[in-house]
Amino acid sequence: MRTRNKPWAKDKLAQYPQYAIGSPADCRGEWTSVFGNDHPIHIEVGTGKGSFITGMAKAHPNINYIGIELSESVIITALDRIIEEELPNVKIMNVNANDLEQFFNKGEVDRVYLNFSDPWPKTRHEKRRLTFKSFLKVYENILRDNGEIHFKTDNQGLFEYSLTSLSQYGMTLLYVSLDLHNSSYEGNIMTEYEKKFSEKGSRIYRLEAKFNA
Ligand code: SAM
Repeated sequence: MRTRNKPWAKDKLAQYPQYAIGSPADCRGEWTSVFGNDHPIHIEVGTGKGSFITGMAKAHPNINYIGIELSESVIITALDRIIEEELPNVKIMNVNANDLEQFFNKGEVDRVYLNFSDPWPKTRHEKRRLTFKSFLKVYENILRDNGEIHFKTDNQGLFEYSLTSLSQYGMTLLYVSLDLHNSSYEGNIMTEYEKKFSEKGSRIYRLEAKFNA
């Protein structure tokens, strides 16, 4: 995601600890206290500017959402959305998905969303794709048994790669759509990239898959 560098973003994130988790390692094993309830936790990895996570939080008040985003200049827009909506069931973390096991115990997360992840089309960059086997292992190690990944993209190459990667990992595919916006799937919440690419006529691919306990 191209965006202007925002050197003030770190300070603003620190001003809203009720939404932007400052010391996520301290929350490991403590998420029930952090949210003040034991509702299921769904995380979005690469949450971008937060349209999806805030839309989901509004639509599903009994689920707790956490947006994971590497870029502070991007996640700051998600923070603005959460502040404006005063959403009690969404938090954000400015961290790398590589490190998620430092922030969650096995079983603390109920679902992982991956939306419009960077495709990294060159073979030598395969390890950076968020559906590469090392990332799948991280997700498996924080998800509950039979936890699910829900993945959307406009990128056919990344979708094909991900179908193979997930099945080689031993996951079970529960749902596949090769044209989400012309499918019977209900309750879709659009992401920023989804709006942008679907307006240009791109087809959106979607899958749900579960780890086998
Ligand atoms: N999900 C949003 C959407 O659909 O509009 C943003 C999509 S954007 C193409 C991908 C986002 O993933 C970028 O904001 C990028 O910084 C973030 N990202 C990439 N690798 C990441 C990682 N290892 N950990 C956390 N975020 C990551």
